[in-house]
Amino acid sequence: MKVEFLDLKAQYEGIKDEVDSAIADVLRGGKFILGEEVLRLEEEIASYCGVKYAVGVASGTDALVLALRVCGIGEGSSVITTPFTFVATVEAIFRVGAKVIFCDINPQTLNIDVSKLHEKITGDTKAILPVHLYGHSVEMISLMEAARKHNLIVIEDAAQALGGECEGKKLGSFGKAGCLSFFPTKILGAYGDGGMVVTDDEKLQDMIRLLRAHGSKQKYNCETRGYNSRLDELQAAILRVKLKKVDTWITLRRNIAKLYREQLEDTGVIVPFEAKYAKHVYNYYCLRCRQRDKLKNYLASKQIQTAIYYPVPLHLQDGFKSLGFKRGDFPVAEKMAEEVLAIPIFPELSDTHVHCVADAIRSFYR
Ligand SMILES: *Cc1c(COP(=O)(O)O)cnc(C)c1O
Repeated sequence: MKVEFLDLKAQYEGIKDEVDSAIADVLRGGKFILGEEVLRLEEEIASYCGVKYAVGVASGTDALVLALRVCGIGEGSSVITTPFTFVATVEAIFRVGAKVIFCDINPQTLNIDVSKLHEKITGDTKAILPVHLYGHSVEMISLMEAARKHNLIVIEDAAQALGGECEGKKLGSFGKAGCLSFFPTKILGAYGDGGMVVTDDEKLQDMIRLLRAHGSKQKYNCETRGYNSRLDELQAAILRVKLKKVDTWITLRRNIAKLYREQLEDTGVIVPFEAKYAKHVYNYYCLRCRQRDKLKNYLASKQIQTAIYYPVPLHLQDGFKSLGFKRGDFPVAEKMAEEVLAIPIFPELSDTHVHCVADAIRSFYR
C-alpha cells in the first residue's frame, strides 16, 4: 500500500467548493493586494492566537526578518537560537545583520535547552529566538523568566506550531512577536507562500505594516527603507476557509499521533515527546530510531514516504561556516540529526495507513 508523506490533494477535495468560491470572489472583486481578505484574516488569526494584532506578510521567513527589524535587532546585536531548525530561522538573523549564537537542544523535546541559555548570554545579546519545532512548545515559562531576568526580547518562530500551546496559552503569543508561516506544508497552509507576525504591541504592528509596503504609508512618500512583503488577497481568502477547519485538523493530527504511539510501542523507536505543559500540533511526527537511513530505505521500498527534519544541524552546513563551529560543538543536535525520521501525518491519513506504516516499522526491526 502506498503511503504519501503529505497529500494536499486529499485536503483540497474536502474543501473544494468553499475554496473555489472564495477564489472566484476575489477574482470578481478585482482587488489583489491588501484588501478586505487580508484584513479579515489578520483579525481572525489575532483572535485565534489570543493577541491584539496580526500582520500578513509574504512568507514565514519575512515574518522573522520584519519582527527582528522592528524589535531593533541588527548590527551589533546577537540573537540566541537553536542549531536544530529550518534554515530560515538563522537566515533571518543574518539578514538583519545580527550575530547568531547557538544553544544546544533538549534531547526530549528537541527544542532549545532553556537550562543552557544563561551560559550563552553576553553583553551584546539582545534577543532569544526560540523555535517550536515540529509543533511542540519550547519550555516557554522558564524561557520568558530567563528573558525577563536578562532583559532580552523574545521573538517566537511558530512557523510549525500554529494552534500549539504552552500551559494553555497559544504559541506565538508569549514573546514580543510570534512568526507564522503559511507555506503549503504547514499546519495552516496556503496555495503558495505567506506568513504573519502576531503581537500585542501596537507600535510594532504599525511598523511592520509600514515596512511590508515599501516603508510608505502614503504612496510615493517613503518614511523608512522597507520591503515588498505582503500576503496577497487570494492566499488570504483561501486561508480564511482553511482557518475554520484548523482545530478539527489539529484534533485529527493528534488522534493519528496517539494511534502511532500505541502501534509503535513495542518496536524500539522513540515516539515524539509531549510535555505536560504542551499541546503538540504534530506538523511533523518525528521518530528517533536506530539505523535511521536503513529504515528510511526499507520504508521507501514498501512505498512509504518519509522525510528527515533535519539531516544536518545548521552549525555544520556550508552556508554557516563563517560562524566557525565544528562537529562536537552541539552534541545533542548532532545526535538527533542522525536519529530523526518523520513519518506521514496529515488530517486525511487513514487508520489503515497508520497501521501499515507501523507494521512496516515493526517488521524492519524484527
Ligand atoms: C517553514 C519555516 C520557516 C519559514 O517559513 P516560510 O514561509 O517557508 O518562509 C521558518 N522557520 C521554521 C521553523 C519553518 O519550519
